[in-house]
This record gives sequence, C-alpha cells and structure tokens, in this order.
Amino acid sequence: EIIHCRLMIAADGRLSSSRRSMGIPSEVKDFGKTVIVCKMEHEKPHSNIAYECFHYGRTLAVLPMIGNYSSIVITIASDQADSIMNMKDQTFNQDIQTRFNSRLGGMMIAGKKYSYPLFASHASHFHANRFALIGDASVGMHPVTAHGFNLGLRGSKTLATVIEEALASKLDFASVEILSKYNQKHQRSTRPLYYGTNLLVDLYNSERLTAKVLRRLALRFGNNFWPVKKLIMGQLTEVQ
Ligand SMILES: Cc1cc2nc3c(=O)[nH]c(=O)nc-3n(C[C@H](O)[C@H](O)[C@H](O)COP(=O)(O)OP(=O)(O)OC[C@H]3O[C@@H](n4cnc5c(N)ncnc54)[C@H](O)[C@@H]3O)c2cc1C
Repeated sequence: EIIHCRLMIAADGRLSSSRRSMGIPSEVKDFGKTVIVCKMEHEKPHSNIAYECFHYGRTLAVLPMIGNYSSIVITIASDQADSIMNMKDQTFNQDIQTRFNSRLGGMMIAGKKYSYPLFASHASHFHANRFALIGDASVGMHPVTAHGFNLGLRGSKTLATVIEEALASKLDFASVEILSKYNQKHQRSTRPLYYGTNLLVDLYNSERLTAKVLRRLALRFGNNFWPVKKLIMGQLTEVQ
C-alpha cells in the first residue's frame, strides 16, 4: 500500500528501517553486554525511589512501579547472560535480594525475564526531504542514566515547535530548510548527552586503577559541587 503524506516522522526504534531506507547513516556502539529485564514483587514499599547499583562486572537497577512492584534491569557481559536467564525462579529471587542487600525485604519474580543486546546508536542527522527521525530512531541511549524516553520527548517537542513556527509564517513545514532547524537544535542536545553517557559507561566498566580513581573523584565532585550536580540533574530530568 502506498500512503501519500507531506511529512513522514519515523519513530521505529534504534534499529529504524525507515532511517536506513532514507539513506541516513547511524553510528552504533555495541557494549558487548546484555540487558535482562523483569518485574518483581517485594515485601517492603519502594517509596518511589529508583536505585542503580554498580557491582563488579554488572549493574542492577531497581525501578519503582505501582504498588509493591519494581522493574529489575540487570546489565551483564553477554557471555554470562544465559546463566541468569536459565536460573530457577527461587535462585534468581534469592540472588537479587542478596545483591540488593534485602532493602525491599523478600523479592519474588512476577512474570518472565526478557533479554536484549545492549547497544547505543546516534543518527548522523535527523532529517531528510519531507522526513524526520524522533525517539530512539534518532538517538538510542545507554539506559544507565534512564533518560532515553525523556530525550525522545524533548526531540518531539523541538520538532513540533519548529513545525508550528513554520506554519505561523506560512512556510513549507516539511521542507529540508525547516527540518534542518530541528536537526541542528536537537543534535545540540543529544550529542553531548550521548557521548557523555558512553564515556561514563566506559569509565564504570573499566577495571583499571586509573578508571577506579577517576570514577571515585567524578562521583565526589558531582555529588558535592552543587552547580555540576544541578546541571546533571537538569539534563536528566529535563528541568532546565
Ligand atoms: C533496558 C532499558 C531500560 C530503559 N530504561 C529507561 C528509563 O528508565 N527511563 C527512560 O527515560 N528511558 C529508558 N529506556 C529508554 C526507552 O525505553 C526508550 O528511549 C524508548 O522506549 C524509545 O521509544 P521509541 O518509541 O522511540 O522506540 P521504541 O520503544 O523502540 O518503539 C519503537 C516501536 O516501533 C515499532 N516498529 C519498528 N519497526 C516498525 C515498522 N517497520 N513498522 C511498524 N512499527 C515498527 C516497534 O515494534 C516498537 O514498538 C530504557 C531502554 C532500555 C533498553
């Protein structure tokens, strides 16, 4: 079926086939890791606090859901992922509870575990003639800072504003000239976050002594130097 439209906006994820069909290159960073996601029920309330635990060789995120449920996100080297995927529920429950220091009391898996290869991607540009990329199709972030979705919303808002301004000036909102404004504005937001996050991930994955010292210093600096803390929080929560 052929559909005619003035502007096509693609939001088909980080492996976007629309992006590829439009000839837009994308750089991909493969972390060699697998992400395992599942839902768990726990005895104690989470009080709406999200945790990211950096253990040697793996990270564990415990993200609050409605009620006494949390979304569990484990990032692990791909060659070790099967051992977790194949764990019996009882062993898995005990393992997560122990790694989380029983902060939420007893933990029980609720449903299935799912696994995904972990890679990040950034399109070289977010537009073509009568075509725009948004969401993960434009930038697929590493989930460590949990702001990929927010960044997608920011991109949609930037695109909507550019289109609104063009309509108000009676210009062709789907022309390359107008869409390149969206591209420039959004690339200015995404590039520092994308490369900054990847750098942070490399720093936290490295077992070298210099990396260990650097990340300790970076954490202290980020936590104690208020302007830096405010800047990071503003970027991640979209509160500017
Ligand atoms: C493990 C993990 C944890 C995350 N945690 C967080 C977090 O805590 N906070 C946060 O802000 N972000 C998080 N993110 C990022 C967030 O999930 C993504 O940024 C967000 O889902 C991107 O939305 P999207 O709609 O652009 O793409 P997607 O969610 O990938 O959706 C794309 C959709 O397009 C569909 N599609 C693909 N091709 C076609 C086609 N040809 N025709 C029709 N449909 C098609 C797909 O089936 C899919 O439904 C996380 C990501 C991962 C992997």
